[in-house]
Amino acid sequence: MNTNIRIFKAFGIPVELNISWFIIFALVSWSLVSGYFPSAYPHLSVAAYWIMGLAAALLLFVSVLLHELGHSYVAKTRGVPIKRITLFLFGGVSQLSKESADPRTEYLIAIAGPGVSFALMVIFFIFYRIVSDASQGGPVAPVLKYLVYVNGILGTFNLIPGFPLDGGRLLRAFIWKVTGDLQRSTYIASKVGGAIGLAFVAFGFISVFLGRFVFGLWMVLIGFFLRQAAQASYLQVVVTNTLKGVKVGDIMKAEVVTVAPDITVQDLIDNYFFRYHYDCFPVTEGGNLRGLVTLESIRHVPRERWQDTPVSEVMLKDLERLRVRPQDDAAEVLRRVVRDRCGKMPVVDRDKVVGIITRKDIMEALRIFSDLGH
Ligand SMILES: [Zn+2]
Repeated sequence: MNTNIRIFKAFGIPVELNISWFIIFALVSWSLVSGYFPSAYPHLSVAAYWIMGLAAALLLFVSVLLHELGHSYVAKTRGVPIKRITLFLFGGVSQLSKESADPRTEYLIAIAGPGVSFALMVIFFIFYRIVSDASQGGPVAPVLKYLVYVNGILGTFNLIPGFPLDGGRLLRAFIWKVTGDLQRSTYIASKVGGAIGLAFVAFGFISVFLGRFVFGLWMVLIGFFLRQAAQASYLQVVVTNTLKGVKVGDIMKAEVVTVAPDITVQDLIDNYFFRYHYDCFPVTEGGNLRGLVTLESIRHVPRERWQDTPVSEVMLKDLERLRVRPQDDAAEVLRRVVRDRCGKMPVVDRDKVVGIITRKDIMEALRIFSDLGH
């Protein structure tokens, strides 16, 4: 579920759909078309239920998008650029490029999302009243009523005071203002988030045992999600704080063994993999990066072809994804390494390979700097 599809840009921020969105969208539309609308409004036609279900699911999506754009807009005006917005049907994640500079900024960014949701709730309610007075029993009013509810739920759920939910961010801003310590307030807010997640899990299991199976399962899922999110975002703050100002160039290995693109796979195995015990080598020509060859990339070459297959034929060539620059932030590169599950990255300065950085190097730097109280 880690694949995102970019759909458009808003305020210059890329907006992405997580692929799980399509599955949830189908499920939600289906449950509205076949369950909610027919049972709440039994006198309408099947075609009407379809239109209502799809319209309601789409407007739920728009509501989530506007909630996230609320965060993004305030963040942008307060000098915290947003990298991207990723949307799931029930919520989104606005990925901030850095932490807020002060508790007030944190508070304003956090409150903006639920603020938008509650504003939408009121707007949909006004429309609902107008429409339901004008047309008795039409298909529009039920959709509007549904949107009043979901926006209320979106606003309220996000105010749960567990980091990284908006309410948790508000709690963190409050503790931050009192203690003046961002890392400590993140720690407390994420502990509260973890505890609330656990409460959801427990409540979910009790509900399942009491026979409310689907509802209970949802609660368990939300609980696990909250726990995991709380832990991940705390780690992210620790990493970002500890590695603040540390550049790739500071911690990379400057001695790097490179291979030429025209050597054979046999040569690569005998003279590089066996000799140096690394699991990947940058491929260079006159010092310029051409690709990266890993154990994985030669695994599918049959043994009898080792003698006549050049490295250039099997190397990874997606240079944009593979390389980093000396001036890149170590914390950001660590996130890339974890996300792409790529253990090593060549460090390239003006097309020349100047070093190599591994996940291990960054973890080591993280350990050293946190021991030093950096
Ligand atoms: Zn939010």
